Amino acid sequence: MGWWDHVQQAPKDPITSVTQAFLSDPTPFKLNLGVGAYRDDKGKPVTLECVRRATEKISDCEILESTKATTKSKFVQDCVKLACGNDSSVVREGRFAGVPALSGTGACRLFAEFQRRFYPDSQMFLPMPTWSNHHDIWRDSQVCTGTYRYYNPYSKGLRFQALVNDIKNAPDRSFFLFHPCAHNPTGVDPNYEQWKEISHIFKIKNHFPFFDMAYQGIASGDVERDATAIRIFLEDGHLLGCAQSFSKNMGLYEHRVGCVSIVSRDDKQATAIKSQLQRIVRAMYSSFPVHGPLLVSTILNDADLKALWEEEVKVMVDRLISMRVTLRQTLEELNSSSSWEHVTKQVGMFYFSGLSPEEVNQLQRDFHIYMTNDGRISMAGVTSSNVDYLANAIHEVTK
Ligand code: PMP
Repeated sequence: MGWWDHVQQAPKDPITSVTQAFLSDPTPFKLNLGVGAYRDDKGKPVTLECVRRATEKISDCEILESTKATTKSKFVQDCVKLACGNDSSVVREGRFAGVPALSGTGACRLFAEFQRRFYPDSQMFLPMPTWSNHHDIWRDSQVCTGTYRYYNPYSKGLRFQALVNDIKNAPDRSFFLFHPCAHNPTGVDPNYEQWKEISHIFKIKNHFPFFDMAYQGIASGDVERDATAIRIFLEDGHLLGCAQSFSKNMGLYEHRVGCVSIVSRDDKQATAIKSQLQRIVRAMYSSFPVHGPLLVSTILNDADLKALWEEEVKVMVDRLISMRVTLRQTLEELNSSSSWEHVTKQVGMFYFSGLSPEEVNQLQRDFHIYMTNDGRISMAGVTSSNVDYLANAIHEVTK
């Protein structure tokens, strides 16, 4: 047998393969609702003004001095402040350890690696359903995964009681992954009281929460409000892990900027954890490109730029919400027999439509509308000029 003859084609990724199918469709009018990347109402990608201004402020010299440790630790502290709150005791007392990561994906991967090293027999409980890559990340890091019930396809809302039962029934000291806001793919988040209850049970069970926050700001339009779940857990005295991404909320998609952090018992423990995270990074890619973290830190530390960023997040979210409203109204005006309440009840980038795989196929075949097989629609791809077309098509396939 020749070298590599045994290598077979890898299975298609359920998300990126949607774009491939879309690109190979020769029809001029087609819709890609697969990818969760923000688009404006003309369907165009957006560079935020705060990012443009931050780019102008950064000097080449700073970018080239990529060994400057302070840039990175400053960035990690800025990220932790954003997640835990500006005046959080976590930051004041130096009770956190973190490293810049290759966006949200890299942050999850680093945490999974860290989990395997220090809790080799542990597993990670993931919500059902979740972003498909979570399963792959923990599998490739050789950490077993379990699932907990989360979404109810009948009500298209949260299965709260089942979720609580699964948390209670898991072995004490288990790891759980949560999406703190704008759950992908369902757009369904626990409310304040529900997070409080989850946090309370975590205390009793001594579980460890890991928050994958890829959409801070994108659920409510307010970055502080979207961190509520994390703030509740901190108030209740939990230690926790956090993955952050600036892909969506700063539009830094291909810059791949993110952070993984762990809130620890005290600064001494933080120092040890940080050294171990750095050790993992050192053998994987040595150190992290500095341009993205510099952009983020520049925005977060300049009051005007930060305010501008917060406004721009709101503009993006308001557009997503207004498209949800129009989509629901249009479907209702078509006298569709189904209920479309959940279009506006769900939050964030995605509308988890409940369309069956057959209906998704029909939308693709007959209307050239592309989405993942589970019926997840990226609201970012919906605009004033295609929302009627989309509503009509959904109506046709669900009649
Ligand atoms: N976690 C979740 C829940 C996500 O939806 C995503 C993006 N689709 C990520 C992490 C990773 O995002 P990125 O690596 O692009 O920052």
